[in-house]
Amino acid sequence: MMFTLGTVITTKKSHPCGGSRWEVVRVGADYKIRCLTCGRVVMLSPDELKKRVRSAVPPACPAATTPSASDTDNGSKESPVGGK
Ligand SMILES: [Zn+2]
Repeated sequence: MMFTLGTVITTKKSHPCGGSRWEVVRVGADYKIRCLTCGRVVMLSPDELKKRVRSAVPPACPAATTPSASDTDNGSKESPVGGK
């Protein structure tokens, strides 16, 4: 599993602060993730990170956006395309 900058991950074990959602703030030989609840930054090796992650949502994942918000906006701008 690859983790890119801005990926929001959920860990199996929650942080002592009670939060379990983190944002990847640094990638490389080691990862740095920031707790979205208390703001604490933790450095982990890729192996450690993989062990702790339950799920990960990439920043550009279409499923993470709310469909209803863009739905109304796209409706008016829709233009038929089909020259052939
Ligand atoms: Zn925390």
